[in-house]
Amino acid sequence: MGNVLNLTTLTRSTALRTTLRERKCVICAEKFKQARTMQKVCSPACGAEYSRREREKKERKQDRARKAALKTRSDWIKGAQHAFNAYIRARDRNLPCICCGKPLKDSDTGGGFDCGHYRSVGSAPHLRFDERNANGQTKQCNRYGSGRAVDYRLGLIARIGLAAVEVLEADQTPKRYTISELQQIKATYKAKLAKLRKEVACIT
Ligand SMILES: [Zn+2]
Ligand SMILES: [Zn+2]
Repeated sequence: MGNVLNLTTLTRSTALRTTLRERKCVICAEKFKQARTMQKVCSPACGAEYSRREREKKERKQDRARKAALKTRSDWIKGAQHAFNAYIRARDRNLPCICCGKPLKDSDTGGGFDCGHYRSVGSAPHLRFDERNANGQTKQCNRYGSGRAVDYRLGLIARIGLAAVEVLEADQTPKRYTISELQQIKATYKAKLAKLRKEVACIT
């Protein structure tokens, strides 16, 4: 019997010795020897700081959830549109303006030129997230050049072909996005933009 007991004690102390490690304090980065498993901090002071940070983290998360709950459908549309437009600008950064052929000048903030919709978001909201309907365009042409529609059409035909342009022009199917669809669209275009940026970083 004594042997069995000894063996158990031995096994337990070996286990303790192996799980109680020397590790770095997650707050001050000093090395310390753990007094119990899962111990992350070296001292009570670092422990208090750790709890404070954890509490803040939790509050930030709750804040985000609260804000998300307050968002209206139109807020979600705005967010999705923002992500979509950013992707289109990144996609077209090396192309000329769709309507006048002038080079698009990018800026570090990404606002050097616009994502211009062929059929405008106002008059054809169902095409607001259609990649064929949206192209890099100088701010000048997009904002002050409503007369550029004919040139836009020519530029678009050159890019995607007459058949596709006519499909866009004939499309009157209304779309109503649910909030979860809008969240999905936003996530999709954020991911597409990240992928594009990664590819560019690989080339340059
Ligand atoms: Zn510490
Ligand atoms: Zn133009």
